[in-house]
Amino acid sequence: MIKITFPDGSVREYESGVSAYDIAMSISPRLAADVLAASVNGAVYDLERPITEDATLKLHKWEDEEAKKVFWHSSSHLMAEALETLYPGIKFGIGPAIDNGFYYDVDLGDKQITDADLKAIEDKMTEFARQGQHFVRKDVPKAEAMKTFTEKGDQYKCELIEGLEDGHISFYTNGTFTDLCRGPHLRDTSVIKAIKLTSIAGAYWRGDEHNKMLTRIYGITFPKKSMLDEYLVLLEEAKKRDHRKLGKELELFTFSNRVGQGLPLWLPKGADLRDRLQEFLKKVQKRYGYLPVITPHIGSKELYVTSGHWAHYGADSFRPITTPQEGEEYLLKPMNCPHHCEIYRSKPRSYRDLPLRFAEFGTVYRYEQSGELHGLTRVRGFTQDDAHLFCRPDQIKEEFCKVIDIILYVFKTLDFKEYEAQVSLRDPEDKEKYIGTDENWAKAESAIIEAAAEKGLNTTVKTGEAAFYGPKLDFMVKDALGRKWQLGTIQVDYNLPERFELEYIDSDDKRSRPVMIHRAPFGSMERFVAVLLEHTAGKLPLWLAPEQVVVMSLSEKYNDFAKKVCDLFNNYEIRAAIDDRNETIGKKIRENEMKRIPYLLIVGEKEAEAGTVSVRKQGGVNVGTMKIEEFVKLIKDEIYKQLN
Ligand SMILES: [Zn+2]
Ligand SMILES: [Zn+2]
Repeated sequence: MIKITFPDGSVREYESGVSAYDIAMSISPRLAADVLAASVNGAVYDLERPITEDATLKLHKWEDEEAKKVFWHSSSHLMAEALETLYPGIKFGIGPAIDNGFYYDVDLGDKQITDADLKAIEDKMTEFARQGQHFVRKDVPKAEAMKTFTEKGDQYKCELIEGLEDGHISFYTNGTFTDLCRGPHLRDTSVIKAIKLTSIAGAYWRGDEHNKMLTRIYGITFPKKSMLDEYLVLLEEAKKRDHRKLGKELELFTFSNRVGQGLPLWLPKGADLRDRLQEFLKKVQKRYGYLPVITPHIGSKELYVTSGHWAHYGADSFRPITTPQEGEEYLLKPMNCPHHCEIYRSKPRSYRDLPLRFAEFGTVYRYEQSGELHGLTRVRGFTQDDAHLFCRPDQIKEEFCKVIDIILYVFKTLDFKEYEAQVSLRDPEDKEKYIGTDENWAKAESAIIEAAAEKGLNTTVKTGEAAFYGPKLDFMVKDALGRKWQLGTIQVDYNLPERFELEYIDSDDKRSRPVMIHRAPFGSMERFVAVLLEHTAGKLPLWLAPEQVVVMSLSEKYNDFAKKVCDLFNNYEIRAAIDDRNETIGKKIRENEMKRIPYLLIVGEKEAEAGTVSVRKQGGVNVGTMKIEEFVKLIKDEIYKQLN
């Protein structure tokens, strides 16, 4: 008999060789019908794989990420089967699950697939899904695996097998399709009830532009038809909120191939918006004792050899820049930390000076493959709202608490109501992967866990996900469409203080090493603005909106009054635009609504005579007519509330 421990801590005994599916059945057939995958001792298993030793068991239903992954990966096999049936001789690259659905990269030879063909593939998939095809796993020796795919003529799979170790190779078969695959998979295809193939793209084999371009087919599947319907509505809404589209409409940023891929150009309204966000954070940071620093955009290669970045990331970075005479090598700054370490070293530090908090909106440059670039979320140059906190080991927890306060304040002010925090710890079984002493790790990890608990964060703990140099706390926000984005991060670092030989004189006059904390509440300005635009659909909170008010004249006769009102607002530091075009008021309203301006004011004869404005809120709510001073107060009050 073996002992199975459930998430609630209860323990049951089963025969050795029992499967997660059997266990679910022993609890209730209903549960078994809903379960899609299982984690056994933390590893995701096929439901029918025998369990032969004492284990912890978690059964995964659709709601769990693990289940979705298995579901979508299985769906990619289902799609592959349909493709092979419809396009005999087709060759397969890889077909993983992704955040929302799955894809498969295929080599169609001289054939082509267009959007018009997707329906037929979906129908074939539905037909196979209904057959309830079992996913059957088979372990195979490397030679046999190679033989199978050589005979099939699938050079991509052969290339994959080449890189695998004998004794760790398995095949999965559903219906007529057999794939080289580690698994795990669903029990059978019958749970796949709703199928949608979403798009077709090109993708180089293994992401290398020297290789052949394969056809990537994306899709998504669900266990219920209604879930697919909801997803499609969401997708439509997401398209409308795409920050690349909004950025253009609101004239916030642009890209130019002549400037270079992945290098955003901030337009005046966007630059203003970014400034406002930075000023907002600077003000908060000042309250928390941060000190501003400014460092250059490049640094000597030696700096990054010292920091270890060159060894770690050098191969994937922009190549060094050399001076024409001396042949000195410089790198575009990939991160700000090494520069800040040198600022710490610029004079002797005492335990009384700590913590020291250096903050900089530092622009960094990282090479991303052109295919990976995406709007403002994946770029080659971006500005981090960076700060490095140098503290004594006994100050970590307090500093963490303060950073959490800042991050939560930022989320609240920008209307991100839902967020999760993830604590990443090291894997105690694999200590060689990490640097730093056991004692320091224990201290830092418990400091983070305690700080998160003290701040009442809803945290998940992930073992083995820490950076090699220290544990961290990451924040994921949920946007208005329920999508998750990673934003703020706080990381403890023992590595850089060591490499840069940072010191302070302790109370006992001995030299001690400070601990470094990296933190960025926004993450980067580019990414944050992108997330904010998609979250708010471009309807930014009043305090942040590029234009807070537009004054529209009812006809040309009132343009002078409109101009006067506008000037008055600007004196009060309210960002007001004027719309004095010779257009109908209906058209003016429509077009200014499109610009997502929070307040639309109309001035005509009545208003000009009485010194009032007619106030409309973005979205059409009529606030009524009021004195100009009254309106100024209304706006000021609203902004105060948003920021406090
Ligand atoms: Zn697979
Ligand atoms: Zn850093």
